[in-house]
Amino acid sequence: MAAFQPGSPDQAAFLEELLAAGLLIDSGVSGVYGRGSEFERVRWAFDGLVTRTGAVDAPEHMAFPPVLPRRNLEQIGYLKSFPHLAGAIFSFEGDEAQAAEQGQRAGRHDDWSEFQSQTELVLTPAACYPVYPAIAARGPLAPGGVTVDAGGSYVFRHEPSGDPARLQMFHQREIVRIGEPQTVAAWRDAWRDRSVGLLRSVGLEADFDVANDPFFGRAGQLLARSQRAQTLKFEVRVQIAGPEPTAVASFNYHQDHFTGTYGIAMENGGGTAHTACLGFGLERITLALLHAHGLEVDAWPEPVLERLQLT
Ligand code: ZN
Repeated sequence: MAAFQPGSPDQAAFLEELLAAGLLIDSGVSGVYGRGSEFERVRWAFDGLVTRTGAVDAPEHMAFPPVLPRRNLEQIGYLKSFPHLAGAIFSFEGDEAQAAEQGQRAGRHDDWSEFQSQTELVLTPAACYPVYPAIAARGPLAPGGVTVDAGGSYVFRHEPSGDPARLQMFHQREIVRIGEPQTVAAWRDAWRDRSVGLLRSVGLEADFDVANDPFFGRAGQLLARSQRAQTLKFEVRVQIAGPEPTAVASFNYHQDHFTGTYGIAMENGGGTAHTACLGFGLERITLALLHAHGLEVDAWPEPVLERLQLT
C-alpha cells in the first residue's frame, strides 16, 4: 500500500477552506472528494474552453468509460512502469457460505479480499489509453493521421495524499495526436505555446518545463532520466497550495510505444506512426483558479469570467 503523504500546512489549510465552502465534499478517504455545484461549474467552463481552443485541429471526438480492459494495461507495460499507481477491479464469484463470511468480515471492516477474484477490468489510469486500440482497429492511417479529443474522462491513480491537488480520481482532459513522426512533433510544439497561453488567459501564472513520469523503483530512475534527456515529457505548472508549483497540464511524446504495441502504421508503406498526447488536469486547474481568484466565483475578475463564459 502506498504510504499516505500528508499535505503541507498550506495544503491542509486550502483543503479546509474548500470543504467549508462546499466546493469539495469529504468522503473520508484522502484524495477522493465529491464536488459542489460551483466547483463543477468552473470545471465544465474550463472543459469548454479546451474544446473551443482545440477546435483548431478539427479533432474527432471519442468518449470512454473510466474502466479499461485489463489486457490493454498489460500490453502497454503499465504494471512494469507504474505498479504502485494501478487500480484493478475485483468482484465476488463465490458461494453462499463465502458470501456470508465476507458479509461478516465487512460488518467489522475487516479484510474480505480473499473472497474477491480478479475481473477483466482495471480503472483507467490515463484518458488516452483506450484511444490507441480503437484507432488500431480501423487499420492503417491516411496521410496526416488523426487527432482525437478524448474528452474529460475520470482516471485513477493510487496515491492517497492530503494535498487537495493530488487526487486519486480526477478528470483528465486529453487530446491525442497520431500520425507521421514530424506531424506529431509539430502538433506538440504548437500546443506547448497554445496551452501556456490558454492558462495565462484565465489569469494563471503558468510556466512550462521538462518533466518525467513517476516511474517505479530503481529501474524507473533510469527510465525517468532517459525520458528527460530525450525531452519526451513537458509539464505546464501553476502555483496552487504546494511549496512547489503543481503540474496542471502535461505533454507526452510516446514515439512508437503505442503504435508498436497495437500495430498502428501509416497506409501504403508510409512508415511508422508516432503518438503524443496532451492532458489537462481539470480538477487541478479548477483548484488553481479558486486559489488565484478566490473561492467566490462570481467575484472573479471580469476578463477571466468572460474568457470562461461564466458571466
Ligand atoms: Zn495520454
